[in-house]
Amino acid sequence: MEKFVVGKLSKEERKAFYQSKYDYYRAFNLCMAIVAVAAYLSYFFTDCGIFGRFAYETLLPRVIILIPFISYMVMQKKIKDYRIMVPLTYLLIHCIIWCTDWATYLLPDRQHAISGMIIMNLIFVCAGFAAPFSYSIVGHCLLIADIALANLFIHYDNLDMMYMFNIPAVIAVCVMHNMMQRVYLEQYITKDKLEKLVVHDQLTDMFNRNKMKEISDAMTGQLIFEPELNVSMLLIDIDYFKKVNDEYGHEAGDKVLVHLAQLLKGSVRATDYVIRWGGEEFLIVMPGCDSDQAMRIAEKIREKVEQSNNGICKMTISIGVALYHGGDYHDTIKNADEAMYQAKAAGRNKVVLYETAN
Ligand code: GH3
Ligand code: MG
Ligand code: MG
Repeated sequence: MEKFVVGKLSKEERKAFYQSKYDYYRAFNLCMAIVAVAAYLSYFFTDCGIFGRFAYETLLPRVIILIPFISYMVMQKKIKDYRIMVPLTYLLIHCIIWCTDWATYLLPDRQHAISGMIIMNLIFVCAGFAAPFSYSIVGHCLLIADIALANLFIHYDNLDMMYMFNIPAVIAVCVMHNMMQRVYLEQYITKDKLEKLVVHDQLTDMFNRNKMKEISDAMTGQLIFEPELNVSMLLIDIDYFKKVNDEYGHEAGDKVLVHLAQLLKGSVRATDYVIRWGGEEFLIVMPGCDSDQAMRIAEKIREKVEQSNNGICKMTISIGVALYHGGDYHDTIKNADEAMYQAKAAGRNKVVLYETAN
């Protein structure tokens, strides 16, 4: 069984992993922030119980939490980056702690401080789901600093107990967060592998048809690229491929397909998509390429294939070229297919551009 460790990821992979973790738990994190603030506000009624009357003294320290909370809600709508939102989440939690300290300072009876800390530790447990482990250690350990600082003003009767309760709680939660991060990493890597497999053709190592679903809108079939970007498509079909199978066998046919796939991949830019569209048909989607450029590339590929040696037999291809005009990409493929059949009809080993006037 493969072992998953964050340390083995590159800097970029780690960033993508933490962002994914934050995105996955974002709604949960938001819910935690709302519940924490709502609970904090509701403790005003507890204050009233302790005072035995309307606790106007703690009204301000309770209500003032709404300022950082509303700011947090506005920010989390606009900012999606975990490197900003996770520290802001911990800042909000520490604001709750500081406001609690303020309310505690005003209360006549402070023996409930430890019970309050149980709730704060629970909030830290929840905050750790969306956070990178290192952030959660720092965010949670600062709780100990908060206690030390608050004690300067509050003078807890049971400071020793506050430390004896909170230090093991912080350690336990950090260990748990580390485990949670490992579990998420395992799930993240498995999901990544599965996603790659879904759009991957096993024989040629190119994309399969599903890749088009990834780069288009499911409802309209519109491609996801900037609308002002020219996008061209090449539909490539091997000429008389049946003969290759018949004369040299299916396995040799497969080798020819792999050879062609490698040649196609090596002839286009890294930003182009080489897709095995069907048995011996390939589709190349080229963002940022108008029909003139696409025709030049197609002609270059046709020549290269004609001259290449695949170790089995001579091979030629026919290519249909079409420019994407927006809307459903299936229409462009249909056009490229029509152009490709014209190339076949014209004697094969040809490149034909689909003309809109057709
Ligand atoms: P044309 O020039 O008109 O395209 O002729 P063709 O023989 O290439 O056309 P046709 O589409 O009739 O034949 C395609 C053949 O491709 C049929 C099928 O046996 C073969 N084929 C499809 N998928 C694979 C594959 O994965 N491996 C192998 N070896 N052959 C395949
Ligand atoms: Mg075919
Ligand atoms: Mg063919």
